[in-house]
Amino acid sequence: MTAPEQLGFEQMPRRLFRATPTRLLGWLDCPRRYRFTYLDRPPPPKGPPWAHNSLGAAVHTALASWWRLPLEHRTVEAAGELVERGWLEDGFRDEAQSYRWRQHARRLVETYTTGLDPADEPKGVERTVALTTSTLALSGRVDRIDERLIPADDPDTDGPVREVSAVELVIVDYKTGRHVLDTDDARTSLALAVYAAAAARTLRRRCRRVELHHLPTGRVASWEHSPESITRHLLRAESIGEEAYAAEQAFRAGLDDAAKDRVFPPIVGSQCQWCDFANHCPEGRRAYTSHRPWDGLDPEV
Ligand code: SF4
Repeated sequence: MTAPEQLGFEQMPRRLFRATPTRLLGWLDCPRRYRFTYLDRPPPPKGPPWAHNSLGAAVHTALASWWRLPLEHRTVEAAGELVERGWLEDGFRDEAQSYRWRQHARRLVETYTTGLDPADEPKGVERTVALTTSTLALSGRVDRIDERLIPADDPDTDGPVREVSAVELVIVDYKTGRHVLDTDDARTSLALAVYAAAAARTLRRRCRRVELHHLPTGRVASWEHSPESITRHLLRAESIGEEAYAAEQAFRAGLDDAAKDRVFPPIVGSQCQWCDFANHCPEGRRAYTSHRPWDGLDPEV
């Protein structure tokens, strides 16, 4: 990737670069796809929608809507109904496949809500949180922000935290994909760490614990960040943001096609199979056969 100083912008006064974790990670995954997604206007037409994205969106929407129901209506059956009501047909092979997956999604959400206490009101649902660093204005939308008691044996409870509040915030991120998640996924997630820092900043409460709730297996992968580990993630976010910012500045100054490919190179890898823009990328298309829209669904369901 091109270093900022190579692009000649090191002397320019900087405004904060506005980004979400998704955008920053998108830069790392493939700068060419980043350009297609965020910079080219109009963007190249995308391929057909993915069925696994429809499933994920329907589950996320149902869970968010469930928490917005009045307490007495937050039943397991209501959760299943919300899946039916918000179901998205996009990407499924046919009506029969869509129906089978709708029933599966309904079971996932019903099983998950069976384990929830409807009275345990979250602090936020699909809540946007934000923070600034010296170079970034970061924001993101969190699936759920819980409030939990800080354990009595927590070293911070003898200090100012106990005096201010005995509760802390917990970041909850729902997952519906085939990949089974573990502690390392929670620990290394830049997005979760940014959400934790931004939630602490926005809601003025301690927030160090992050959790991935994997609905297909019912497993929760969690990690307790320290202030130092959050800082490390924010520094990484800044470093990615520096590269993306410099490339964006070069784009806005005007690049010919060859320079676009130099500043926004394609990164060919397994992500090409699921790239919305693969039809506009000869390198990605040569290296990988595109999947059919429903190929991301678990064949064992
Ligand atoms: S097909 Fe692969 S290399 Fe091409 S834009 Fe998409 S992710 Fe990048």
